[in-house]
Amino acid sequence: MTTTPEPDGADAPTPGDGDLPRPAGAVSPVDDATSPAPAERPPTLGDVILALDVSGTKFAAGLVTPRGELIDRITRPIDHGLTANDLFGHLAGLADAMLVRAADHHHLGPVVVGVGAAGLLGPNAEAVSPLNVPAWREFPLRARLSELTGLPVFGDLDAKALALAEGWLGAAQGRQNFLAMVVSTGVSGGVVLNGQLLDGATGNAGHIGHIIVEPTGRRCSCGSRGCLEAEASGRAIEIITGRPPSEPSYEIMQRTGDLVGRAVASVCNLLDLDLAVVGGAVALGFGATFFNSAQAALDQHSRLEFSRGARITPARLGDRGPLIGAGAVGLRGWRRSLRAAR
Ligand SMILES: [Zn+2]
Repeated sequence: MTTTPEPDGADAPTPGDGDLPRPAGAVSPVDDATSPAPAERPPTLGDVILALDVSGTKFAAGLVTPRGELIDRITRPIDHGLTANDLFGHLAGLADAMLVRAADHHHLGPVVVGVGAAGLLGPNAEAVSPLNVPAWREFPLRARLSELTGLPVFGDLDAKALALAEGWLGAAQGRQNFLAMVVSTGVSGGVVLNGQLLDGATGNAGHIGHIIVEPTGRRCSCGSRGCLEAEASGRAIEIITGRPPSEPSYEIMQRTGDLVGRAVASVCNLLDLDLAVVGGAVALGFGATFFNSAQAALDQHSRLEFSRGARITPARLGDRGPLIGAGAVGLRGWRRSLRAAR
């Protein structure tokens, strides 16, 4: 079943245990005094999730409702000169500030924490090692946030969080099968198949940045050669051109789109997909030139009967996507833990 939401997402489904979509009726108001403790009962419309996003360049904290509305947020650039603990202090400061705003301005008390973080990531963000945040290597993020907030904490990769968000309220709304990816400083992705967000053995399913697009190409941070991330990420573009990806030439925009389209075609052929939703500052910043070139490469390389006609489209949630995705990770973890407790 799918629903057609209002522009503000008021009637939108909420992400369950990777089930997309879930009818809005699954969220029902419960406000009587005999309700079980928060996070030991299903989410209700009076709840709010403390959403945290850890990218390579900034921390963000926000409040997300079970309908996917982002009602408040703050961000802070990551200071790469700090120690692991001081860096956590900055994130904790944002989380504390959001908890105070939730109580004082919104009269809400967050019941769970959802985290989207750049990889590499252990299951449920127990240990995080964001490639672009060298101070954190195997940093025990989930435990530290749990200690800080006293709330259940659920974490996942940022690109998987974005896949949940775009399937919930964005460009893949109502779709049961799609790829979501981020082309930014790095390149990452998440796959929804048969309505389920794929986790894989260690939670890292969807790493499209390490599909080989140039067999004799540049050395990748993963140790291989010619990965999409080594050729088409913001970092790679800066090294190749000597200029930041915010100042691209027409050729670079076209080449980046072409490489992304090739990788997307491989995924569509492999997994029987016909939609890829692409976000991230590089892809969205390059705009139509990037997307036209990516679509042309996808058309050229997805030639199977089921993958022919696959589309590549911009992510729709813009800069709200990461926090709405983190909120979706919190909801998904909440529902899973309820199911496991039964
Ligand atoms: Zn690689």
